[in-house]
Amino acid sequence: MSDNIPASAVGLKEGSKAKAVRPVQKYLETFGYLESDSNPFATDEVFMRRTSADHVLEEQPAATRGELDSATIEALKQFQAVAGIPATGEIDSETREAMNAQRCGVPDTASALGEYVTGAGKWSTNHLTYSFQNYTDDLTRGEIHWAIDHAFSLWSAETPLRFRRVADGTSGDIVIRFVTGDHGDGSAFDGPSGVLAHAFLPVASEPIRGDSHFDDAEAWVVAIPITSGIDLVTVAAHEFGHALGLRHSSDSSALMAPFYRGWHRYLSSDDIQGIQSLYGGPGRLENATWIHGNAALIEHENAVDFERKYGFYNRIVGKANSTNWIHFALPTPVIEDGRRLSLDRFMLRAVTGSKATLRDVHIRDGERVVALLNGVNRSGVMPFARFGVASMPAVRWGVSVSLGFDFGSGTNGDRRVDLISAGFDYK
Ligand SMILES: [Zn+2]
Ligand SMILES: [Zn+2]
Repeated sequence: MSDNIPASAVGLKEGSKAKAVRPVQKYLETFGYLESDSNPFATDEVFMRRTSADHVLEEQPAATRGELDSATIEALKQFQAVAGIPATGEIDSETREAMNAQRCGVPDTASALGEYVTGAGKWSTNHLTYSFQNYTDDLTRGEIHWAIDHAFSLWSAETPLRFRRVADGTSGDIVIRFVTGDHGDGSAFDGPSGVLAHAFLPVASEPIRGDSHFDDAEAWVVAIPITSGIDLVTVAAHEFGHALGLRHSSDSSALMAPFYRGWHRYLSSDDIQGIQSLYGGPGRLENATWIHGNAALIEHENAVDFERKYGFYNRIVGKANSTNWIHFALPTPVIEDGRRLSLDRFMLRAVTGSKATLRDVHIRDGERVVALLNGVNRSGVMPFARFGVASMPAVRWGVSVSLGFDFGSGTNGDRRVDLISAGFDYK
């Protein structure tokens, strides 16, 4: 892990001109907390920041270069507030650690605490395209396609937004690139760790708005559980939040928080409120079909301690420390009024005990997999959980959904899953 901020920065006092002050100021400049000079065009750095479109920020206070002055201390307090640590304005070890953490390269904005931030424009259409300019060698093409599809599906599940991939090398609304170092947009990547990726907000001009760049110096991974490397699904979903118009949230549980703290393949309520303030909610169902929980098929009957159908729902208690698959075949209208329907989203009504977790959601049309959502990690009351099929392929043979569950140890109540209803909406 790269340490931008040296240990010698910890404990420096106001007025200090120690060598370690400058890296702290550089960090605060890079991420939008500090203007390095009263003349905004005095350095390349500031010029780049002004012209690079995701960096259109309000005026920040000027600091004296290399001196821990009051402007730098003020900026430190703002950073600490966003990072969720006490806003003392002092460079303590916690602050140094936060500045050396893996994060997104898009600057933060001083904002109301614990809230999403918009004001970065939005797209005028709900149907966006994306394309790959290139790929990383860390993963296969298939893995990358599934990861990107998964990332988009988090946003499509809760909004009217839909995302269609167009041919590699063409210019989709959102162009995905894996690059290293200086790659021509004024925001060079920094090698392994540190900054992982960045994306251009919709306020940026064409053609770069929406484009999402990933630092190929990172080791990108997709397989769950992740022991080393950076989760492409999490980082891509975060960057697409920027591409759609969200800035960083200072709610530390949000996907749009600026720091990478391991894999996080879901939207928090803050993210959902943010994206819905721009594009609205998921809208009404059009051709939804539902079946009751008692239609579920359990793959490993011998890994179940208890199963009973209560009227229309199904209660399953998994054996301690087991995994299982539960399958639903959903009633599927294929053609309506002579028109082939499209797969839109899966909906689940279920309740789990505290030691039962919905881990994976796999959606198939016939034998073809159309969504491979691994690591969704939902537990507790799911009154209406949504899982998008972001690309909306045409339905051909009929939909089945496989739900992967993990059961920990604990009482029967802790290891229970009550399956109430499963549904699918077709457009
Ligand atoms: Zn970000
Ligand atoms: Zn870039």
